[in-house]
Amino acid sequence: MTTGDSTTRAPTHPDILEVRYQPGFHLSAAHSLVALPAGAVFAKLTFPPLTNEPAPTWATVQTGRDTHIDLNSDLVYCNHSCAPTLEFDMHKFEIRVARDHPNGGIVVGEELTFFYPSSEWNMSQPFECRCGAGEGICKGTIAGAKDMGRERLKGYWLNPHIEELLDELEGKPNGAANGTTNGAANGTPNGATNGAANGAAKEEDAKKKKKKTKSCVMM
Ligand SMILES: [Zn+2]
Repeated sequence: MTTGDSTTRAPTHPDILEVRYQPGFHLSAAHSLVALPAGAVFAKLTFPPLTNEPAPTWATVQTGRDTHIDLNSDLVYCNHSCAPTLEFDMHKFEIRVARDHPNGGIVVGEELTFFYPSSEWNMSQPFECRCGAGEGICKGTIAGAKDMGRERLKGYWLNPHIEELLDELEGKPNGAANGTTNGAANGTPNGATNGAANGAAKEEDAKKKKKKTKSCVMM
């Protein structure tokens, strides 16, 4: 989420990204200085520089159903794209190369983007997307996952709190319904090893983890 910030601040992640500054709101962008395969960890998120924020703003990233953080670093220049190169996992506090990256990974110089509704339920400032992902891929107005619904979010990796809130919106009880959607979204990396038999246990595990993460964030 970008600002029209000045260029005076020292780079916060000089080993992995550079910010290409452009005059104008939301036009500056982060570009990769490294090549990494799909699914690889690009950066870990830690407090500090992260700070908890009481409410969503144009600069925050949502970490749970009621929790938001400010990145306070050049990572804020990772813009939205409907064909993102990164995943912001706000429960594991890590940024990964998108697992379905069309070229199998990021290359040096590539723009670093993520899909804002993967973390944002209800965005403070909806906007008309100009990601250039093309017809049928670009989602148009981006206003958070709440307004998009499950159908338009199909195929995207989503943070657990977004999956949970979508289930609630659809009136689904947590449980069996959750299993299928999580399964589909997370299928590729774990698919081969985690068979159907493990599904139920995994789901329980995932729930426990969710709770843990949430209480950590609250502190
Ligand atoms: Zn778009």
